[in-house]
Amino acid sequence: MLLKRSKEEVVLLMLCGLSIPSILPFGIVRLFQGNFLMAAVDLLIVLGMLCIMVFVWRTRRVRLAGIAVTVFYSLGMLAAIYVKGVPIVYWVYPTMIAAFFILRAREALLINSVSLLCLIAILHGAMQILDLSSLVVTLVLVNLFSYIFSDRTSLQHFELNQQAEKDFLTGAGNRRAFDKQLQTLCAKDVVQTDACILILDLDHFKKINDQFGHTVGDQVLIQFCSLMRSRIRNADSFFRYGGEEFVIVAMGADVFAAARFAEELRSLIEKAQLLRDYPVTVSIGVAKKIADEEGEAWFQRADAKLYEAKLSGRNAVRVAME
Ligand code: GH3
Ligand code: MG
Ligand code: MG
Repeated sequence: MLLKRSKEEVVLLMLCGLSIPSILPFGIVRLFQGNFLMAAVDLLIVLGMLCIMVFVWRTRRVRLAGIAVTVFYSLGMLAAIYVKGVPIVYWVYPTMIAAFFILRAREALLINSVSLLCLIAILHGAMQILDLSSLVVTLVLVNLFSYIFSDRTSLQHFELNQQAEKDFLTGAGNRRAFDKQLQTLCAKDVVQTDACILILDLDHFKKINDQFGHTVGDQVLIQFCSLMRSRIRNADSFFRYGGEEFVIVAMGADVFAAARFAEELRSLIEKAQLLRDYPVTVSIGVAKKIADEEGEAWFQRADAKLYEAKLSGRNAVRVAME
């Protein structure tokens, strides 16, 4: 069940899950020792973690829970040091590092900076100035290293995600990106908006490869994509579904607008003369999303229309009329 959850959810659940058995024994021992104030702090942290764990498990809202965990953790840590003093100051290190696992680097740094100021206020009378300085300098260093590491990792993560959803040859979104968008558009809880799928398949592309070679074929695909990109609007998305087959998701378009758009694209490719003295044309199937339709069914309706366009002699547009 954990496998189906996002990385952020797993980190939060694990963190809360691990902190409960780590802190609970201290709370119980302190309770039996009659150290009620410290026991109350420990048990409140455990209770808070349990609530946040249940919240994340049920709602999957990680942003809010992440901030709540970090603020709660930091307050707990400060309260414990306020009550117990210097002997438990080493808990500050894991607490501050944990913030970088849960939050964005800047948010973690901000919360930790406020915690550090509070910590100085709590400890300034209880520690020698040299010891307090060492503590502050080491905590600043830990925060700086964590910030740089977290920031770099997020950037790499972002770049890798982008690459993982891009087609290497044409720069269009790949099949994986398309599947994701289809899933998002057809999700049960999403607000229904007008959207049309256009499936575009280059005609007799195999012949182009056979006659001019694979490299020329590749160039045709690249030019085809840059022409498509010059025409689609910001709200639309463009994907390479596979081989010489592409998909445009036109947002906010009714079936007539999408049909006009498809016809415009078909004619654009025909006139563009992507190969000198050799016709390069495209066939297009169009379908508008019906309310509550599954992504696969929607795609199949557009694909059936593409098949019709091919049967009609190619270089044609066919539209599903619901
Ligand atoms: P149709 O009009 O029925 O679509 O005919 P077609 O020849 O376009 O379709 P078919 O599915 O028979 O052939 C697709 C061809 O596209 C075969 C394959 O070699 C070529 N192709 C697929 N991916 C690439 C690619 O990345 N580069 C090149 N150059 N060719 C590719
Ligand atoms: Mg083809
Ligand atoms: Mg094809």
